[in-house]
Formats: sequence, structure tokens, C-alpha cells
Amino acid sequence: MVDPEKRINQMTFTLGQVWREMRVSCPHPDILLAWKEGSLEKGPSSYLDFHVNEAECPVCQAVIEDLERRGKDAAEESALLEDLRESLLSSTRTFLRDQKK
Ligand SMILES: [Zn+2]
Repeated sequence: MVDPEKRINQMTFTLGQVWREMRVSCPHPDILLAWKEGSLEKGPSSYLDFHVNEAECPVCQAVIEDLERRGKDAAEESALLEDLRESLLSSTRTFLRDQKK
């Protein structure tokens, strides 16, 4: 008697292999991003759930990793710019205040 859970895992694995071998077209990175942000509708979202998580499409996983890395960099960059803007503003204020004396 085969453990049903094992059977399901095997099926998923096979399905993923078939998927990869057939090279089912991957969604556009924009779609992947929308999916990561949870802004996709239920239908397409479950399609991507399957494509990335069940079929473990290596291409899409790499794209998502790349998007996440870039997203983090962008956030850090804007935080840095904000800091710079703040210090520029405060030194300008100090400068202006000193001028008035
Ligand atoms: Zn893919």
C-alpha cells in the first residue's frame, strides 16, 4: 500500500518535470512581480502558484530572485537618497540661519 501523500508528491514531481520538458511558456517578469505582490487575480495567481512552486520552474524562480534583489536595492537606495536630502536640507537651514546673523 503506497502512502497517498507520497503518491501525490511523486505526481507533482512528474508534473513539474513534464512542465519543464515541455517548456511551457513562462509569464512575463511584470506578471511574476504582480504575483509576488499578491495583486494578481485568483485564476492567474493559482496558475503562477503552480508554475513557480509546484513545477518549480527554474527560470521564473531566478527571475523572482532577481526582482526581489533589485527591489531591495531600490528601497535601500531611496532610503539613502532620503538621508542625503535630509542632511542637505538641514545644513542649508543652518547655513541660512548663520547668514541672517
Ligand atoms: Zn517559468
